[in-house]
Amino acid sequence: MWQANIILQNGQLMPYAEAKVHPMTLGMTYATALFEGLRAYRNPVTGEFKIFRLAEHLKRLQAGMKVMRFDHVFDPEKIRQELAGLIRANEPDDDVYIRLLVYIEALGLMAQTGPVGYTAAASPRERPKFADTGMSLGVSSWSRLSDNASPPRVKATANYHNARLTQLQAKADGYDGALMLTPSGKVSEAPIACFFMVRDGKLITPHIGSNILESITRDTVITLYQEATGRAVVEREIDRSELYFADEAFLCGTGQEIIPVVQIDRLPVGDGKIGEQTRQMQKIYFETVRGLTPDHHGWLTPV
Ligand code: PMP
Repeated sequence: MWQANIILQNGQLMPYAEAKVHPMTLGMTYATALFEGLRAYRNPVTGEFKIFRLAEHLKRLQAGMKVMRFDHVFDPEKIRQELAGLIRANEPDDDVYIRLLVYIEALGLMAQTGPVGYTAAASPRERPKFADTGMSLGVSSWSRLSDNASPPRVKATANYHNARLTQLQAKADGYDGALMLTPSGKVSEAPIACFFMVRDGKLITPHIGSNILESITRDTVITLYQEATGRAVVEREIDRSELYFADEAFLCGTGQEIIPVVQIDRLPVGDGKIGEQTRQMQKIYFETVRGLTPDHHGWLTPV
């Protein structure tokens, strides 16, 4: 497998080990940072790499920078060129995961809004281990962050304190992963992925007001499902107890892709096997991200 040798920092490519951030930056001391996780998939037929939904990732990042009052605004074309250069410099021979991190470089007081620094790392990432087996989730006793405290739609690194506590508790309790509820007890999302369930033939996902990240994969699933079936995904509140009525369930995210969920709180989801709609969505998703079907939406950016 290829290795990450080169990293991008503030527009410069450099050896991976040489990127540096001072420990007193706001990025470190107050987690004044945002990030995006992206993937560039290799088309198995042509061997070309294309970044999936780059424009949407950059749009979300810029919206987050606005909320967090960062001084700097990215030029999407400049970032596209830099990310393409980063990928090429690492000479990957398989799919690439890109972590783009933006932070306040100033040292000292909390309320500073610049200068803004950024790094991007490209690395190999294996398919998540539960993609073919399905995972067991436990509903967490940690609540999901709420919008008026630390808005989950902003992909701030600070939000991952909440996600990490949840993930570690799930591991300690013997689950593969967790689901979080909103402070009012409705289903929100997993620590690093969004949630979908099938009930009586309908595909359902917590609506955007459920303290979730505005996930790009969630939007991709909603779009692809509509195109494949002619039916809309139902976006609504989901009660905790409704989880146990689900016939199928899956998680989705850029890193996680589409992961079947076969057990929640040690109860089987449906018959406890990976469901047909979930498998179908995995297939359509992989054909789309790898460019094996025509890119009607302009989702694939060449490297
Ligand atoms: N929710 C959370 C909390 C996440 O960290 C992620 C991963 N970015 C997702 C959902 C999925 O988002 P996306 O599809 O944009 O990768």
